[in-house]
Formats: sequence, C-alpha cells, structure tokens
Amino acid sequence: MILLGRYAMSRQSFVVDTSASPHALLRPLPLQGVTIRDHFWAPRIATNTQVTLPSQYAHCEETERIANFRRAAGNEEGDFVGLFFNDSDVYKWLEAVGWNDAISDSPGLSVIRDKVVADIVAAQRTDGYLNSYFTKERSDDRWTNFDLHEMYCAGHFFQAAIAICRTSGARTALDAACKMADHIDATFGPASDGKRPITDGHPEVELALVELYRVTKEQRYLTLADFMVSVRGANQLGNQKFDNLYYQDHKPYRDLHDVVGHAVRMLYLAAGATDLWLETGESALKAAIDAQWHNMTQKRMYVSGGVGSRWHGEAIGDDYELPNPTAYTETCAAIASVMWNWRLLQGTGDAKYADLMEWTLYNGVMPGLSVSGNEYFYQNPLENDGTHRRSAWFGCACCPPNVARLLAQLGSYVASVDSQSLWIHTYMQGDIDAAGSGLDAAVSVATEYPWDNTVRITVTRGGQWTLRTRVPSWASGATVTVGGVRQNAEPNTYVALRRAWQVGDEVVLVFPMQPRLIMAHPSVINNNGRVAVARGPLLYCIEQVDQSMPVASLRIDPRTQWAEAAGSVALGAHTLLHAKGYSTSTPDDALYAPWRHDARQPVRLTLVPYHLWANRAAGAMTVWIPLA
Ligand SMILES: [Zn+2]
Repeated sequence: MILLGRYAMSRQSFVVDTSASPHALLRPLPLQGVTIRDHFWAPRIATNTQVTLPSQYAHCEETERIANFRRAAGNEEGDFVGLFFNDSDVYKWLEAVGWNDAISDSPGLSVIRDKVVADIVAAQRTDGYLNSYFTKERSDDRWTNFDLHEMYCAGHFFQAAIAICRTSGARTALDAACKMADHIDATFGPASDGKRPITDGHPEVELALVELYRVTKEQRYLTLADFMVSVRGANQLGNQKFDNLYYQDHKPYRDLHDVVGHAVRMLYLAAGATDLWLETGESALKAAIDAQWHNMTQKRMYVSGGVGSRWHGEAIGDDYELPNPTAYTETCAAIASVMWNWRLLQGTGDAKYADLMEWTLYNGVMPGLSVSGNEYFYQNPLENDGTHRRSAWFGCACCPPNVARLLAQLGSYVASVDSQSLWIHTYMQGDIDAAGSGLDAAVSVATEYPWDNTVRITVTRGGQWTLRTRVPSWASGATVTVGGVRQNAEPNTYVALRRAWQVGDEVVLVFPMQPRLIMAHPSVINNNGRVAVARGPLLYCIEQVDQSMPVASLRIDPRTQWAEAAGSVALGAHTLLHAKGYSTSTPDDALYAPWRHDARQPVRLTLVPYHLWANRAAGAMTVWIPLA
C-alpha cells in the first residue's frame, strides 16, 4: 500500500511533463493519479522507501560524495574524494527522494533532502557553475575536457531539482539549476553567437534541458538542448582510448541510423532527442530516432531488453553481437531504454513502445536490484558461472540511484490520457484517476499480473470517454469482455472501448500466459541450438540452486509439458516453471569422448524468473538453454 504523501492532495507531480508538448499524442498522469497496491511492485516500492533510499544516502555520506559539496563550498576541511562525476550519484538519489515524496509519507527522507540541497547549493559559484570536482585547484580546468561529465552532472542536477519542485514546491534547487543552465547557455552554443560550439562527451543534459524548459517555459533551454543534439558529429571527442563513434560524435545525430558506442550515452541521447522531437515535431529528427530504435530492437538488443554487448567501452556491439556470459547490459542502459520508450509512447501511442518498456522494466532493469533492496548489479549477463554477485555499492555508482529513481517514478508509467481517452499501458493492481490530467475518468485495477492472466478494470468515475487498454505482444488469444460480451483482442495494440461509462462497469482482460519458447536470429551464433523461455511479460532462466545436475549439462525438451508452481515466498510471490530436460555427460568426466546419442539422462528442469536470479546461493545461471 502506498500512502499518499502530505503534498499529494494539493500537488500534481508529473515526471515527464508532455502536457503542453505540441507533438505529444498523450499527456501524462501525475504520480498522485496512480496508486499501486499490487503484490509485485508495491513491496518493491516500499522497500525503495524504507531500505534503498536510506542505505544509498548512507553510502553517499560514507564515500564522501556529499562531503565533496561541503568542501567545495568551504564549509568543511578537505579535498574532493572519489570519481570526478560522483556528484551525479547524489543528484540521482536526490531525484529519487523527490519523486518518492509524492507517493510516500517519509518525513525523515524529506529532512535529509533539504539538508543535502543546502550543501549542494552552497557549492554553487557566483557565475552559476556547479560541480564539486572542479573547485579549488581544479577550478581552472572547468570546461576543458568534455569527457569529464560536467554536463552529465548538470543534467542530473536539473532532474533532481525538477523532481523536488514538482513534488514539494520548494524552489531552492530549481533556482540553482536555472543558474547553472543559464551559465551553460551563456558559454556554449553556435560560434555565430559568440559561444563555444563543443560536443559533450556524456549525453544526459539534453533530456534534462527539455524538462527544465517544460517546467520554466524558458525557450533558451529548449534551444540549448537542440544545439547539444545538433552539434554532434564534429568528430571532436575521439581520443587514444575511444573513437568518435564511442561518443556518438562520428556523424550528425540526424544521420545516425544505428545505436552505437557507449550504451548509456547512446540511449540517454536518444531519449533527449525524442524529448526534443515532442516539442519541435521535426521529421528529420524522428526519422533518425525511428531508425535507431529499429536497429536496436532488431539487431543489437538482448532478449532481456538489455543493451550493451562489450565490456570495453561499456559499448553496444555490431549487429547480432550479443554474447551471453560477457554481456555488459548495464542496468543504467536498461533504464535509459525505458525512458526512451516512454517518450516514444507519449509521442505516438504505439503499443510497441509500451510493450518494450514493460518488458525491459521487468527483465532488463529489475535484475539490477536484489529483493532485499540494498544490493545491485552493474552488469547483467545472461549466462554466468555463479561468480557474478550483486554489490552493496560501487566506486562508479551510477546504477543504484538510477534504479531508485525509476521505482519512485513508476506510477507515472502506468497510464496516460488524451482529450477523449484513458490509456492503460501496463497492469498493476491499484487505482488510476485521470482528473489531474484533465480527463474526468477513474478506474480501479484488480490483477495478479505479471503472474496471473486476468486483469479486471472497474470504472470508479463514469462518463463519456474511451478506455484504451494495452494487449501485450505475447498475448496470442487474448480476450476482452465488457458488458458481458467477450471479443478477441489483437496482440500489441490498444483495445479502444468508447461508451458512457457507469460506476461499477467492468472490463475483463485475459492474456494467455502459457510458457513459450523464444529463438534467436541465426546470426546470434552463441544462441544457435538454444531457446529462451518466457511466460507473460517475464523472461525465465535456470539457476543452479534449483537443479539436480550442473547447469552447463542441461538441455530442454522443446515438446515438454509445462508445470507451474509457486516459488519461495522469501523472494516475493512468484511462479516457477518445470520442464522436461536432459543432463549430458562424458564417461569418467573425460574432456572428450566418442559421441553417443544416449549420453544423457532425463531430468526435471526448474526455471525461475530471470529478474530473481542471484538472490539465493551462488551458482551457475543461463537464460539461453540448449535444446535436447
Ligand atoms: Zn549505471
């Protein structure tokens, strides 16, 4: 149960506010418009408030990330400690606390929030510049190396300031953010304006500037975001370690038709460019975005929704380069993909973006966080020998607070409106009230999704409007029943139901959830002869702790009769799958032996949702299972 915060009754907090975006088909719901009471997400969100955010604050203090601001302000003795972009971790944590304020009454966090904001703002220079690394003896190095994440940190500060302002009304951080944005705007831009036409090394500020424009209506911030996207392709950033492609600086953004280079940078850039398109409607920008999305989903994305094939450069690979044990698939890249797909969904109302957003949320992002809420994966391999375990924190700690802010924002991704319709994108038990978005409509949702196949939507405020509710791409044979009449529903679409709704009217959706096998394109050579298993919106894997024989020896019978069972409550309610399989071996454990078709014994395989792996005893895991 999410308790409404003390600000909730008076404020309407939009996370990505496309309410006035000329080219957005959909408008968002405020966080206060969605109450989540389900058995999957509500416990995760409660853990975020009670465990994740307090423990992350402790890590930020222990690692001197917040002390860096106090030192930069001259309020504490000592020099900067840690990585040059450590400010950004504090900002992301602060953003998470900001959104969390709208959905949870946690006064302790609010007190800390205000203290941290005071520490940050005190470190701002008189010209508006803010970055705790580039102070004191390093102040002369400001804006000299554009791979040192000054813009990236600024962008995360803007987002934190926006979250705090939209949820609490406090403007201290937002005023400081505008001062920093004004400083950047005065310094960077077209040479014809007498400014420095540089390309920044780590995109992020683009989407933050568009949101800053949305909250302040200051046109200069939108113009600056456009400049930041448009200046790319000058081949300025390449160096001895990484080439221009790594930085997405090898060609102009509007000519970029693939997703390339550093995965998180690429996907933040795409999300920022999409924000820009929502405001400008520029067709050349949208054409590039569409081509990039197609390239990602058809050639460069893992079956989990994760992106990033290479450890070197945390980079996206070539087409079909998707190795499983060495997958990089940074948690931040999956989050960036969710952010990108959300913006595309708001622009188009196309179910394919909601489908990938939901899939990536469950299977790309959630593996990054332990059930306990205080351990994290940075990389999310699809196969492992059991040595990859979550950590309580990282020296480079971008992922932990990124997960925290996404969980705090989650309610904003459930539904949208247009002038006539309530759109439901993903299913969580709870209440949806669109009044804060200008549509006089409200429903309650009862479901055990993603485990159960039935969703009941009950109208709680009637009227003449259209309910547009999504049928997932995997839901072949889906049905929708309204007014006692059942009809088939096409997968990967929104079912549109327009009528004069009465309170108590019920819509029942049934999404068949039998386990299914997924094959990969044959050019993904490491997946040849293997299948992945999914049920509903969840990807499954086999983990050693559940098997009687070594994971590496296991094969699955594709004609298996599936059995479903409830998994250990310690991991939260979930459904396990059992399948017929085989374990192979060589005589006497020989490295090589003559092949024999009977060198295998039948076994019963147990599959667990991939997002839950590595929460129990360490052991091997694989998503792609060899066929028997
Ligand atoms: Zn990260």
